[in-house]
Amino acid sequence: MDTVDFRERNSELVTEEQHYGEDPIAVRDSDHYRAEYIQTFVEKWDELIDWDARAQSEGQFFIDVLKARGKTRILDAACGTGFHSVQLIKAGFDVTSVDGSAAMVAKAFENAKDHHIILRTCHADWRFLNKELHGKYDAIICLGNSFTHLHEEQDRRRALAEFYAALKHDGVLIIDQRNYDAMMDHGYSSAHKYYYCGDKVVAEPEHVDEGLARFRYSFPDGSEYKLNMFPIRKNYMRRLLTEAGFQHIRTYGDFQETYQEDDPDFFIHVASKS
Ligand code: SAM
Repeated sequence: MDTVDFRERNSELVTEEQHYGEDPIAVRDSDHYRAEYIQTFVEKWDELIDWDARAQSEGQFFIDVLKARGKTRILDAACGTGFHSVQLIKAGFDVTSVDGSAAMVAKAFENAKDHHIILRTCHADWRFLNKELHGKYDAIICLGNSFTHLHEEQDRRRALAEFYAALKHDGVLIIDQRNYDAMMDHGYSSAHKYYYCGDKVVAEPEHVDEGLARFRYSFPDGSEYKLNMFPIRKNYMRRLLTEAGFQHIRTYGDFQETYQEDDPDFFIHVASKS
């Protein structure tokens, strides 16, 4: 599917405000992400993630992991505004960029054009991925704490089953997540070092319980956006990956193989089918 007519077709693009209703912390719904990534938030996303700072803090990590395993055909399953897709294409990978938010796919397409790249895009929800996509990939990446948008366990299992099916027999899935264990057990202390690198945007939780992490993103112009996410625990995520059929799972903490459990801001799971 191309991106050209997304604007006309998707009413989510014309929504001006996020709506959480009367009881925002009751919103725990895997479908709600589409209503959260409204056009104005999508326009601001790159202010939040700051491509240059992010490129510097991540370094070659994903490129090295993929190259070391000989992976070339990559599906960026949560492309957002296109940061990883563009990085990987520049590094010589063959990338398809997917997102369930039409506004994000359109923004990724525009951003890639600014880098003289025409992105191969697809607007698809992970839970129905193989309805929209055909062919098998060497690796799937799902980065930027995206997977925690799935609030129901059956949606998490379904998305993992779709990822598994879209991978070749020796394929690799790379999923990252915030260190919610530290946040739930000891309080929030992110140094904002990885991923959310823009130093002018404040990203902080305004509510955390075992079933919800509601984050507030405050921008210098006074605008504020919220995201309601499921605070996935590290070992639970590893178990889901194993139960989806992945044979080997290596979990990095802030891109390091060894770490103290509470230290990292982010965990990165590299799960292989064989
Ligand atoms: N990976 C990008 C980054 O790191 O900047 C975007 C991260 S953003 C936190 C999460 C992305 O996941 C959004 O673009 C959202 O639309 C997408 N997403 C959330 N749930 C999804 C689903 N069920 N299917 C497809 N995309 C989904």
